[in-house]
Amino acid sequence: MSVYDKYKAVIGLECHIQLLTKTKMYSNDVSEYGAMPNTNVSVITLGHPGTLPKVNKRAVEFAVKLGIALNCNIREENQFARKNYFYADLPKGYQITQDKTPICTGGHLDIKLKNGTEKRINLTRIHMEEDAGKSMHDIDPFESLIDLNRAGTPLLEIVTEPDFTGGDDAYVYLTEIKKLVRYLDICDGNMEEGSLRCDANISVMLKDAKEYGKKVEVKNMNSFRNVQRAIDFEIKRQIDLLESGGEIAGETRSFDAVNGSTFSLRSKENANDYRYFPEPDLQPVFVTEKYINAIKSQMPELPGDLFKKFTREFGLSEYDAYNLTDLKGLALYFNELVSFTKNYKAAANWMMGSIKSYLNENAIDIEQFHVKPKIIADLIALIDEGKISNAAATQKLFSELMQHPDEAPISIAQRLDILQSNDTNALQELVNQALAKYPEKITEYKNGKVNLLGLFVGEVMKLGKGKADPKMANQLVKEALEK
Ligand code: ADP
Ligand code: MG
Repeated sequence: MSVYDKYKAVIGLECHIQLLTKTKMYSNDVSEYGAMPNTNVSVITLGHPGTLPKVNKRAVEFAVKLGIALNCNIREENQFARKNYFYADLPKGYQITQDKTPICTGGHLDIKLKNGTEKRINLTRIHMEEDAGKSMHDIDPFESLIDLNRAGTPLLEIVTEPDFTGGDDAYVYLTEIKKLVRYLDICDGNMEEGSLRCDANISVMLKDAKEYGKKVEVKNMNSFRNVQRAIDFEIKRQIDLLESGGEIAGETRSFDAVNGSTFSLRSKENANDYRYFPEPDLQPVFVTEKYINAIKSQMPELPGDLFKKFTREFGLSEYDAYNLTDLKGLALYFNELVSFTKNYKAAANWMMGSIKSYLNENAIDIEQFHVKPKIIADLIALIDEGKISNAAATQKLFSELMQHPDEAPISIAQRLDILQSNDTNALQELVNQALAKYPEKITEYKNGKVNLLGLFVGEVMKLGKGKADPKMANQLVKEALEK
């Protein structure tokens, strides 16, 4: 047993998601990524004397949506609070956030671990707040640059209970959160652009200990993989430190992606006292039962529910269901496709096979795919009715369909001359020709070399120029050989 097995790790995550509202949290400034620096900055964002903030309704709606999706309790009376600190990219000198009255409390997200087991991650709270501006220290060699466009951008902060035990479950959770916020259309989930950010709180304890160890907070991870790496590095660092007789210091650390290690930023002793107090310039926002119900009635189907539907109702494998629900667009397309066909497995295969390859090759999303689900269902029906072979459909018809997205598959099949003949007499004639070509192989077959069957069937298909129904050809060849 290694020393690491004596310990267990305890981890809680704090995620910020940047909301896809048109304007900022407390002003009409446009909220967009990539605008010219310092162009979307009004006196309200700067907190000039005499200006008054007002709450962005859409941001409240997004918070309620997320709360519903994560099974949270949604608060009726929402107050805002000032969190005071001094930093160059915080022009007001305070952030307007929520302190004692977060809009959502409780709730949970069920995730599926790599080993297939389900795990419930409990949530502590979700609250509304605004982002700070952005300082850039690495563009100009002498000066720090500040872009205040981001100041005031609406954020939701999702805080979990300390329910994670390592980098792996944290990684899965983040993947699911990203998927969820994209389904809800409230955040683009792009961690590289900073629209989804995550801090990890990590501690370790002996397995039979009663109390949690002292936690360390790690920041500045710009990808899910790096969150996972930072957590796993930090667990090992803390155990090594304890084993060598050291003590864990309550501190904030940063992740160095190049070395895969963490380093100390500041100790908790020097932590800011934020002097929270109720925001005097904003009235509380009331979220009524009626409002919550109205939003509930407009919720899209969520990935977790779709996964269950695809596996339980449609009998798809978990693998297929996972891939089909990964992106909302794919799931919606599939949902429409199966309203036209009951061959769910074939529908999934077309989605994950030819269609996805086409999207990849052309670097487009399903939203730009111009063939209607009904047409794909017609194509599946043609195969199921034995009118064209699966091979002809994937190899010939599909690419033709991409050129003529509105043409009926049956008409393309006629044009390409790949409709299968179901005429048994004609097929029997081809079988006879194929057998006549290799008389010595017939004897070998009869002496036990049964995999020669493929040779004859292949010959029949060749003679039939791809139009013969392979199933029927197979059957007729077998019958002829065993006569
Ligand atoms: P703080 O007041 O230091 O911000 P919080 O109680 O607000 O701490 O918790 C912040 C995050 O840290 C939450 O996600 C919580 O689950 C997590 N957390 C709390 N205690 C521990 C611990 N001992 N080890 C790891 N994570 C913890
Ligand atoms: Mg906290």
